[in-house]
Amino acid sequence: MPNKIVSIVIPENEPIKDYLPGSSERKALKEELKRRKSVVYDIPMFINGKEVRTDETIDLYPPHELSHKIGYYHKGKKEHVHQAIDAALSARAQWANMHWEDRANIFLKAADLISGPYRASINAATMLAQSKNVYQAEIDAVCEFADFLRFNVHFASEIYREQPISVPNIRNTMEYRPLEGFVYAITPFNFTAIAGNLPLAPALMGNVVVWKPSFTQLYSAWTVMEILREAGLPDGIINMVFTDPIETSAIILSHPEFSGVHFTGSTGVFNSLWKMIGENLDKYRSYPRIVGETGGKDYILAHKSADIDVLSTAILRGAFEYQGQKCSACSRAYIPKSIWDKTWEKMYAALKTFKVGNVEDFSVIMGAVISEDSYKRIGNYIAHAKENPNNIIMYGGGYDKKIGYFVEPTVILTKDPKSVTMTEEIFGPVLTIYVYDDEVESLDSIVELIDNTSAYALTGAIIAHDTYVIEKLKLGLTNTSGNFYINDKCTGAVVGQQPFGGARKSGTNDKAGSKWNLLRWVSPRTVKENFTPPKYYTYPYMSEE
Ligand code: NAD
Repeated sequence: MPNKIVSIVIPENEPIKDYLPGSSERKALKEELKRRKSVVYDIPMFINGKEVRTDETIDLYPPHELSHKIGYYHKGKKEHVHQAIDAALSARAQWANMHWEDRANIFLKAADLISGPYRASINAATMLAQSKNVYQAEIDAVCEFADFLRFNVHFASEIYREQPISVPNIRNTMEYRPLEGFVYAITPFNFTAIAGNLPLAPALMGNVVVWKPSFTQLYSAWTVMEILREAGLPDGIINMVFTDPIETSAIILSHPEFSGVHFTGSTGVFNSLWKMIGENLDKYRSYPRIVGETGGKDYILAHKSADIDVLSTAILRGAFEYQGQKCSACSRAYIPKSIWDKTWEKMYAALKTFKVGNVEDFSVIMGAVISEDSYKRIGNYIAHAKENPNNIIMYGGGYDKKIGYFVEPTVILTKDPKSVTMTEEIFGPVLTIYVYDDEVESLDSIVELIDNTSAYALTGAIIAHDTYVIEKLKLGLTNTSGNFYINDKCTGAVVGQQPFGGARKSGTNDKAGSKWNLLRWVSPRTVKENFTPPKYYTYPYMSEE
């Protein structure tokens, strides 16, 4: 019954649990990890509310323990993409016309399931599938994901409330229609929260979705799907397929009802999708929405007034948490010569205590990198860096895949601020540092260097105490990032607090988990109703003097 006005409270960020020894959450998570490891998950696709299995299955292993099979998924074929599109389009009308508050209830329930009864399950899945340590899993799969769901409902209510003015005798309203057709969500491996948010944000606004998760994340994506089913998501709203990405894109991006793509992943893939959309433009009923958050080459710039403890902590956490596999990870740092020795002393002492290994051991800070491809790509960057006479490997530089895809935290000191590892996204635990001579090189020249070194502009941080310097850097670095941090690391954006996204080759900057993102998934219709319409065509000025 739509006869009600529901009050939507401003949500609070989901508190991060500590997982201290002896705590109930730690016990529950350890038990869940054990339980999951005693089971081999059979993971079907999910189309029109039905589990879909095929005759081709692919095994799944934790990146940190390649000898332990945790499941297998059913690989889909072209026909499954067509089925997913048809299912979405058939479900569209009822979903789009449903009272939005009742739609929103499903998302709020999913958030409560994630932060409540499914907390251990979604954390354990993320730890096993993506090799996140307990803290990295908690801030992603539970806290950020629940925040996305709750804040999006709040932002949707703000959007729907935004109405044009009405005047005497004229009633104007704005209806926020979902897009006509279906949305294609393509998700990356590195955040369970992003994987969930990309199909769910358009769905909240009344859209129907075909979701293609990353193969290396689909073990935890399946848990997301289980939660959505329990939360009451109707059949056909989100259809999850495990199909070849190129084949899937060829079918979806040439479909007349394709209405938008919600993508997070690498810049190269996003560019190819955009080009394909351009080539198919004549086939579409509407101009599709193209929303993509892509790569980064994120920096930390220190000023000589920096607090050395703050600086070394920001660099180490920013560069190596989750093995440097965050789009926001610090992968280049600029440190003045006058404070370099002291900074390195602190960094080195801390690095020596870093434990890299199986994330099921809670004392580990770094797990394995996601896949064999990643492991090879990162290894190649390190090998080339070692050959460059401008570089010194200050720490790490080793990698080994006997047990899992382990790469040591690696610090490269370079004399060439435009060397390969200063400019290209590596997406692994590799940090390159350029020490600038603060007696010779001006701060302006370093600002210009940062501005012109990389094609990306996702995140950046400055560490400084001097207020005038902070103001100068904030202005000078305006276009180098979409998320800028002062005296903090360049990672860890929180939904509702630091809306996230970058410019240049880092994406369309539509700020995931914000009103700006949700607006991309609606096509407003303005309705004017005239209470006293004119009854004859002439205007008063036409009468004779
Ligand atoms: P990726 O580009 O390899 O894969 C992303 C998704 O695209 C996967 O689901 C993959 O299967 C799919 N894909 C690959 N080729 C495709 C094609 N031709 N058509 C359709 N889909 C295709 O990225 P990844 O390794 O999963 O994630 C890492 C990348 O994501 C990094 O570049 C990182 O910076 C970026 N990222 C950006 C943000 C952000 O907010 N800016 C957040 C997370 C990750």
